[in-house]
Amino acid sequence: MGEILFVTGIGTGVGKSVVTGELARRLREAGRDVITVKLVQTGNVGRSEDLELHRRMMGGVRFPEDDAGLTAPQIFAFPASAELAARLEGRRVDLRRIVRSVNACARRHEIVLVESAGGLFVPLTAKTLAIDLAAKERWPVVLVTNGLLGSVNQTLAAVDALRRRGLAIRRIVYDWAPDVDPVIDADTPRTLVRVLRQWGIDVPVETLGRIDVPAEEPAVRKAEALRRYDRRRIWHPYASLKDPPPVRVAASASGTDVVLADGRRLVDAVSSWWCVAHGHNHPAIAEAIRRQSREMCHVMFGGFTHAPAVELAERLAAAAPRGLDRVFFADSGSIAVEVAVKMALQYQHARGRFRRTKMLALKGGYHGDTACAMALSDPDGMHTLFAGMMPRHFFADKPSVPFGGRWSNGAGDSIREAVRRHRDEIAGIVCEPVMQAANAMNFYHPNYLRLMRELADENDFVLVFDEIAAGFYRTGPRWAAEAAGVRPDVMTVGKALTGGHITLAATLASAKVADTISNGRPGAFMHGPTYMANPLACAAGVASLDLFVRSDYASRVKRIEGELRTGLAPARSLPNVCDVRVLGAVGVIEVRSMPTRADIDRVIDAHGVWLRPFANFIYSMPPLVSDTATVGRIVAAMLDLASAPPGPAPADPDFHE
Ligand code: PLP
Repeated sequence: MGEILFVTGIGTGVGKSVVTGELARRLREAGRDVITVKLVQTGNVGRSEDLELHRRMMGGVRFPEDDAGLTAPQIFAFPASAELAARLEGRRVDLRRIVRSVNACARRHEIVLVESAGGLFVPLTAKTLAIDLAAKERWPVVLVTNGLLGSVNQTLAAVDALRRRGLAIRRIVYDWAPDVDPVIDADTPRTLVRVLRQWGIDVPVETLGRIDVPAEEPAVRKAEALRRYDRRRIWHPYASLKDPPPVRVAASASGTDVVLADGRRLVDAVSSWWCVAHGHNHPAIAEAIRRQSREMCHVMFGGFTHAPAVELAERLAAAAPRGLDRVFFADSGSIAVEVAVKMALQYQHARGRFRRTKMLALKGGYHGDTACAMALSDPDGMHTLFAGMMPRHFFADKPSVPFGGRWSNGAGDSIREAVRRHRDEIAGIVCEPVMQAANAMNFYHPNYLRLMRELADENDFVLVFDEIAAGFYRTGPRWAAEAAGVRPDVMTVGKALTGGHITLAATLASAKVADTISNGRPGAFMHGPTYMANPLACAAGVASLDLFVRSDYASRVKRIEGELRTGLAPARSLPNVCDVRVLGAVGVIEVRSMPTRADIDRVIDAHGVWLRPFANFIYSMPPLVSDTATVGRIVAAMLDLASAPPGPAPADPDFHE
């Protein structure tokens, strides 16, 4: 059995970790087989920083025990005493497990340095202080102190307590501390030695001086380790785990940029899937989340309400097209769509039209990845694999008259025909107004929306506009449907609702829809997700809507639209390009065949612009706060990619999500 030494200190922050690492390094250099153990780590999520520091000081060693969790048997997130940190997590510090781990290490190594958690008298459990555990296990002690004012007093009190409990003190290590008074610093070890001699205690007092702590693992190496783990274990959107596409490690983000672990910055030309409207980490939104987190992170919405939900509902109702002032909060865009469909069905049910259980949707559309939302998306698009399990709805042709194109009366025939044939089964019509995004990048004529409004009125269908992608100024006006001057009965919003800071969506309904549902049977609207109206998300939504009100996004988008239009125009003459189209802050180059993955990566790295092309679309939906120079960089990157030779046709279509 190896020797166990308990490294503790006269208080928190005296430098126990550095001393433990330094002792381990010296012992190792002297040829001894030493291992370090962290008694309990607090203030870290999922990893022991102190152990990592020991390892760095020992030259980056790792022990097999690390992987078994034996060298940091317990980790708690809150930076406090072990007892409090565990209590806050509803757990307890398992002293038996800790002792078992320490003994397991002692069986395999000559010396085990056990770094205590905090000072000598820190509570580990409600009944046991750190000193009690050391006394019970008879672990000899290394006491760490320093030259700050008051250290003599605390050190002697600690020595006295250790002596009373019969604990052996192997040495007192006098650690360097910043900002000490040089007179006190020089005198402290001398005084300690003198008093200890008077007490008849023969303990070496060792002065370490300043120790150079090796720098943290370089960010690049750390990023590589993250990427390796990620590759083996974590699914990314629309990716295989067998041969996953490359991922970049994002370390932080601000404004229009994502900062990578290696320090490079990428302009987020897709606004992280179209949600980062005000820029990443907007201080007002981040602060709203922080402020709310101090009060209440979550409470169930069944039986409770709260200020963030009410304030957000009020702001949403004020911002929405007139009359859409009944709010259902959902946790993602897909769920908001499911909720909208359930509203349509319950509306018809309440009117006694029990056969009206289907929706009429448009080919080329996309409404999300959950079952009901997939069932409303393009039937020949990215979800065909799931056709067998999805509810069947009715589809009209993909709108073929482009936005700004010439309307012909026959253009809406497919919609009219679907209504004529299936009138009695249709509960509602659903579409992405003006812009079919994720399945088609298609900007279509607003007359389609007018036609759908007319047909809905004639047949008492619930008209649902899915503004999740197009809303909040993305296509120009606040709501895309404003281009047609018509209002839906139900509208879904998401993505930019929180400015891309936290997931939240909402389904807004007219009084007519809400009242009909409420007056029918069962009266209740039958949906209620666990995280409905999460207060953190609602607080972010309130801050985001305030920004939408305060800033003139309509003008900004107009400027971005002009810059995209002028900038992307030269792409028209490129051989692999079949169309270039721009609407609001959306720019699309449609290519005959997508360039290779290698070319896409080359362009991203060369321009420092994050693009995420899919199917045949090289596109950008930049943050709405992008300035002219940023849009210029995005345009240059898109043109470069569109100039690259076409890659091989993909075996499977490569869809956006
Ligand atoms: N509706 C539209 C129009 C969308 O573009 C999307 C996502 O791209 C969704 C719904 C689904 O939203 P979420 O990904 O938040 O579930």
